[in-house]
Amino acid sequence: RRVGYALVGLGHLTLNEILPAFGQCKHAKPVALVSGDPEKMRKVAQQYGIKPSSCYSYQTYDQLKDNPEVEVIYIVLPNSMHHEFTIRGAKAGKHILCEKPMANSAKECEEMIAACKKAGKKLMIAYRIQYEPLNRMVQKAVRDKTYGRTKMIQMMNTQNQAHDQQWRHKKALAGGGSLPDVGLYCLNTTRFLLGEEPTEVSAQIYTTPGDDRFKEIEENVSFTLRFPSGVISQCMTGYGSFNNKSYTVYAETGSIEMDPAFPYHGLRQERTHAPGGKQMKEVPNDPQKDQFALEMDHMAECVRQNKTPYTPGEEGLQDQRIMEAIYQSARENKPVKLPAVSKLDAFR
Ligand code: NAD
Repeated sequence: RRVGYALVGLGHLTLNEILPAFGQCKHAKPVALVSGDPEKMRKVAQQYGIKPSSCYSYQTYDQLKDNPEVEVIYIVLPNSMHHEFTIRGAKAGKHILCEKPMANSAKECEEMIAACKKAGKKLMIAYRIQYEPLNRMVQKAVRDKTYGRTKMIQMMNTQNQAHDQQWRHKKALAGGGSLPDVGLYCLNTTRFLLGEEPTEVSAQIYTTPGDDRFKEIEENVSFTLRFPSGVISQCMTGYGSFNNKSYTVYAETGSIEMDPAFPYHGLRQERTHAPGGKQMKEVPNDPQKDQFALEMDHMAECVRQNKTPYTPGEEGLQDQRIMEAIYQSARENKPVKLPAVSKLDAFR
């Protein structure tokens, strides 16, 4: 029996990516919707065969507790709402899959983890890159030392943000600008590839004066992460320049480039190395799996097999702590040390 999902928020991501992705799921299916727009919800419910009695408003959301078809709630709302809807969802007795960034502060993340623990429910953060096959291949090569030890990583995630992205330009709703939205991919993916936690960050921020989009939030962030193994990862994110969603891992005897690395489709990997002294490039095939289907199936399997998700709430909390240190470093114009954390791999 497939695990039933309730989708909360019917915005771009839910309508264009998540709901269509259920068509490729093996273990998950949509069974309920939660929205502030009843007319839109009625149409979407009809399209996906969801019963009218399984459609809820943000006010009646808590009644999900009486709907046994729903086992997982997938929260796809503006960032500031993740905290409230995770806690209410856990109290309704459901497992939670929450979009990134997990919340707007480390304190909120801690409260979300505590609420799910108290309710005995699982909490997973939707870090889709960690379920995507080409990025997982890079992780394996790094961990297996296919090209020797990794020395440096360079990552970028930039986009020229449209002017009509209202909530993303409001600090209270988004929590910040490019950093928690797209810069988070550089941070989370670096940690995912290396399997170790940074000990120090240094960062700089620049925001174009007079640009309407950036009255409340930052535009560009450059940050450097230092790791116990000696790896340095240099990351850049921005909301005002053309798309670049790529990274390169530099190891002793080869490098692996993902360009692009972070979009929903069309990812490409290229490996450069020199077996026998002759430099060559290899481009592995993209297995073309839907990332949203993979992550929703993963959560469904964790529910069925009673396992901890690969990206639990603790992952989101760690990123939030590091982002807070990145802001602090930029503000104070000096490196910030990060407290040692127990290996997060222990959650997996
Ligand atoms: P969106 O603006 O398209 O949708 C947000 C939804 O929330 C809308 O249906 C809107 O009506 C609803 N909403 C409820 N209260 C609101 C309020 N006070 N202000 C504004 N909207 C409100 O946004 P989206 O792109 O679907 O993003 C939703 C979440 O998903 C965010 O947390 C975002 O970071 C995340 N996201 C993740 C990915 C990914 O690849 N994993 C991609 C895009 C977005």
